[in-house]
Amino acid sequence: MDDCLFCKIVKGEIPSKKVYEDEKVYAFYDIEPAAPVHFLVIPKEHIMSSCGEVTEENSAIIGYIYQVIAKLARELKLDKGYRVVTNCGEDAGQTVQHIHFHVLAGGPLGKMA
Ligand code: AMP
Ligand code: ZN
Repeated sequence: MDDCLFCKIVKGEIPSKKVYEDEKVYAFYDIEPAAPVHFLVIPKEHIMSSCGEVTEENSAIIGYIYQVIAKLARELKLDKGYRVVTNCGEDAGQTVQHIHFHVLAGGPLGKMA
């Protein structure tokens, strides 16, 4: 999608600090980290704007992203745990309309809001 920030990051039009990439997903460090380790995992294709658009037809990528997160957590030695967050819609504070999974780690994360 032309005016999507994360599509521009995938295309390299906006710089990012890459954590991981394959044919389906891209992972990069969040520009405003909310934890000592904070990266985002996104589908490369603009498959859906938010988790509110997940359907039977397009949901396979969600399971795949969780597989990638588990692999990255092992590689980055997030042995003491991590949190995966997806903000969905306005009240959750979603600011970028390209589905994404925050991975937060690197110390005690406190309780969820
Ligand atoms: P959300 O608020 O759940 O939509 O998350 C969007 C996230 O994207 C926020 O945590 C931002 O800090 C992050 N973000 C915005 N622009 C960039 C960028 N250029 N590079 C990396 N992360 C970004
Ligand atoms: Zn996009």
